[in-house]
Amino acid sequence: MIILETPKAMRAWSLEQKRLGKTIGFVPTMGALHEGHLSLMRASVKENDLTVASIFVNPTQFAPNEDFNKYPRTFETDKAMCEEAGVQVIYAPGPRDMYPEGYSTYVTVEKVSEGLCSKTRPHFFRGVATVVAKLFNAVLPDRAYFGQKDAQQYAVIRRMADDLDMGIEVIEMPIIREPDGLAMSSRNRYLSPEDRQRALCLSQSLFAAEAMLKAGERSAAVLIAAVREGMKTVEIDYVEVVDAGTMQPVERVDGPIVLAVAAQVGPARLIDNIKFKP
Ligand code: AMP
Repeated sequence: MIILETPKAMRAWSLEQKRLGKTIGFVPTMGALHEGHLSLMRASVKENDLTVASIFVNPTQFAPNEDFNKYPRTFETDKAMCEEAGVQVIYAPGPRDMYPEGYSTYVTVEKVSEGLCSKTRPHFFRGVATVVAKLFNAVLPDRAYFGQKDAQQYAVIRRMADDLDMGIEVIEMPIIREPDGLAMSSRNRYLSPEDRQRALCLSQSLFAAEAMLKAGERSAAVLIAAVREGMKTVEIDYVEVVDAGTMQPVERVDGPIVLAVAAQVGPARLIDNIKFKP
């Protein structure tokens, strides 16, 4: 297992692999790895000659009042998990390697970044798009893998890669869940046993709405009301039905949609969603 810590070292490795004709798959993460991250790595290992996973808790996507300092950092376990999944390189730069003194360049992806998570986290997608653009420039991947769990993030990265002619295939992978339905998340570690139990209402409400969609319900208002009713025991941030490509709210489900929710459950802000195509 190779561990690289600077953009320069990462790019030199990738350029050499490209010279040898190898394809590179890439999985960006913030560490505190779980089965969700591993599913992305396994897909990359299957579809590319080499796989790079990055572990970087990105300061520019956290607001000052958010959990940057207490975000779980578990590098030794993460390393073992990457090795087990077949990853060749962990790219783990430090904040100073990524944002040296005088750093001033940011990537803003309009429209798809608006709404949903931006309403309460207005700084978030600028930070995500910027760091992923920087990671792409160092890793030079052929394919990059993202989870549907962060559906808006996937839409933003996809848009950025297309708009900036990055020539990278951006691939979305399904949400990996605990046996009881809770979407896996590094932030689930913050939950007390009681919070963990309450958190189940996110996936349960989404699954109930999915059954309504399959039975023919097409009104966003009806679906949203049902999900809100099911999530009464947590502090709802949003429940929305949006177009799967543009992330703009829709009133009726006549094309591919995402039904997305976010809620504060005790100390953790959790998100989840289902996708549906009529
Ligand atoms: P994070 O470390 O939370 O920034 O996530 C890194 C990548 O893993 C992102 O593309 C996430 O969407 C993806 N991911 C996180 N949780 C899951 C999950 N439960 N299932 C599938 N992918 C996930």
